Formats: sequence, C-alpha cells, structure tokens
Amino acid sequence: LVSRKKKPEDTIVDIRGTKIGDGAPKFVFGPCSVESYEQVAKVAESVKAKGLTLLRGGAFKPRTSPYDFQGLGVEGLKILKRVADEYDLRVISEIVSPQHIEEALDYIDVIQIGARNMQNFELLKAAGSVKKPILLKRGLAATIEEFINAAEYIISQGNDQIILCERGIRTYERATRNTLDISAVPILKQETHLPVFVDVTHSTGRKDLLLPCAKAALAIGADGVMAEVHPDPAVALSDSAQQMDIPQFDEFYKSILESPYVRA
Ligand code: PEP
Ligand code: MN
Repeated sequence: LVSRKKKPEDTIVDIRGTKIGDGAPKFVFGPCSVESYEQVAKVAESVKAKGLTLLRGGAFKPRTSPYDFQGLGVEGLKILKRVADEYDLRVISEIVSPQHIEEALDYIDVIQIGARNMQNFELLKAAGSVKKPILLKRGLAATIEEFINAAEYIISQGNDQIILCERGIRTYERATRNTLDISAVPILKQETHLPVFVDVTHSTGRKDLLLPCAKAALAIGADGVMAEVHPDPAVALSDSAQQMDIPQFDEFYKSILESPYVRA
C-alpha cells in the first residue's frame, strides 16, 4: 500500500493544517528530551518567532543505558501539550510502547516511532490503528526494504498519514555518530508515495555538519528536516553534545532559508 506503483500521487500528511509533502520543505525543531516546561517553552518561543509550526521533544526516551535519563513519560507529554496550546504549535513525540498510544492521542499531534522500534511490530500495528500522523524513523541497521515494510505495517491497519525519516545507519565509519544515507531519500520518494524527512542531528551527531547535511537533504528532495535545539545544551539530560543552542539555531535557520532549495 505504500508503493508508488499502487498510488502514483504523493501522500500529503496533514498535521492540523501544516502539510508535509506539499512541495514546500517543513522543519521540526526541539529538544532531544522534554526536561521542564521552561526548557520546552524557550525553544517553542524561538520556533514560533521563525513562523514555524512544528515542535519536537522526547518524553519516553529509548536510552542505550538503563542508568541514563529515561524521560518524563506522560508528564512530558503534558508539558508538550501546554506549550503547544500556548504557542499554537503542533508537537511530535516518540511513543515506545503500544499501551501508551491511546493516552498520547490527548497530548500530541504526531506519534514518532524511533529507530530502535522500527521493527516493533505490535507498536507499528497500534500506530496504524489510530487517526494521528506517524513519523517513522529508519532503524539503526535497517535496509530500505525493511524500512518500507515497517511503514507497510502501519498503513495496512488503515493509517496512511506516515512520514518516513532517514536518521542515519550504523556503518564502520566513526567520524559521524551514524552514516547519513542521503541516497535513501530519492529511493524512498521513488518507491513510495510518502513524504520523507531527514534527521540531521541523530545521523551526524555533529553540530558542524547539521547545516551542510540539511542543505543536502533538501537538494536531494527531502520534504523536511529535523534537528535538535536546547536552550542550554551543556546541561541537557540527553544528547548534550549535538543539540544547537538558540543562537546557533537562529544562524542555522537563517542559512537554510538562503539555500536555493527552500521555497516557502
Ligand atoms: C529522537 O528523535 O529523539 C531519537 C531518539 O531518535 P532515533 O530514534 O532516530 O535515535
Ligand atoms: Mn536526541
């Protein structure tokens, strides 16, 4: 059902009026983890000031170590909802367990399925059974075919509001956190009718590569870019090294708007 052969025209994902895949690139910024109302609100203010509508923030964090910050859970979703209401933004947050999907519907606009859960088939089926857009990230070691099949799990339950997100794959290369598979973008665009995003933060893990990789993503046909922003990355409870602070975010967004591939 996700195949372009079955449906030649692009699917547009509608996030309460913000349309993904309509030809104008969209951007998702926000902290890695929701830590407090004040922290999220600071980023939201900066997102809003740019005329943007999408905000991210993790409440359920799939951390590599069980001793690392695991996220605020439902409390975090409540903070996102409050900020979304106050700043008129749409929020994206990762859900890691099928049992939290129903509850999440009250608080967030897009359910993110993270790289580590790309083949959590019960979670995919649960995401397919609700009427909410899904942002599906490519698994750390997933082939494009496996990625497309994961989206098929969602759409086969009736939900076609799916954004695919390339976020880098694990290779032998250690210069970046993961290896951004930029060619996945046109392949996914050719083989499916779904919009495609590129997460430049988790793919590179390097602040100096966010801008060139975002430009490359848009040049090669991505429908949007995701990057992490934190008011004070040095004290962030997760991904401290790779989140932009607000001045860096301002500079990043200004440069992106100057790139020839962004047409509002
Ligand atoms: C995230 O976006 O918060 C995240 C954990 O990303 P990924 O699943 O791509 O590692
Ligand atoms: Mn992160």
